[in-house]
Amino acid sequence: MILSRQKPFEEITGYLEGEKKVFILGCNGCAQSSGSGGPEQVAEMKTKLEEAGKEVTGTKVIDFLCEKALVKTGLRGKVNEVMEADSVLVMTCGIGVQAVAASVNKQCHPACNTINLGGSRGEWKGSERCFECGDCVLDFTAGICPLTACTKSLINGACGGASKGNCEISPDRPCGWELIYERAKARGQLDRLKDFIAAKDYNKMMIEPALMSTQVFALEQKGQEESK
Ligand code: SF4
Ligand code: SF4
Repeated sequence: MILSRQKPFEEITGYLEGEKKVFILGCNGCAQSSGSGGPEQVAEMKTKLEEAGKEVTGTKVIDFLCEKALVKTGLRGKVNEVMEADSVLVMTCGIGVQAVAASVNKQCHPACNTINLGGSRGEWKGSERCFECGDCVLDFTAGICPLTACTKSLINGACGGASKGNCEISPDRPCGWELIYERAKARGQLDRLKDFIAAKDYNKMMIEPALMSTQVFALEQKGQEESK
């Protein structure tokens, strides 16, 4: 289970500035359980965006957006609606947004922030990774997470040490920032890379006390109490 929360609506409409048409994609997995991107939230978002003057070309809720095969098969009947839109608003965790951005050749906006639960991962095996940073920046980085794709977790561009496309720290893996640059270039999104991303507030990666007691430590605490 990955916990996510919707970003403020103003942040989402900021991403959509200059765009008229959007397709909304929700997730029936963790985002539905989190109350951030299930069928109800997708319907609410459609209404709010239409009230804000956007045309919603279509919506779809897919079982697990963190699985690229399910994304592609789930969108099979929606190709025209997706292609008609300027972008796709993805209402799920950072892994799901990355999986959609890897599957759909469009600007994919993250509608949610992923909240740290202390080590949970996507429900499906895939190459996408999320640090659960609590303030998703995928809108600026062509849908590839710079915190996990870059060995140094740089958020405003490459360190300059890459060699032949590979990372200077981990030569066995591609430079994350070269991947981001190449995808942004291929999709005509290089301008987005000029936006400066403010230093991250890593306090947002701390597990919230309410979640500590319910999600992470509840079993341990119970065990300790029983052993007294
Ligand atoms: S920027 Fe990366 S670490 Fe932060 S929520 Fe998005 S995918 Fe996860
Ligand atoms: S070479 Fe690329 S992936 Fe490696 S630390 Fe530098 S910017 Fe990050």
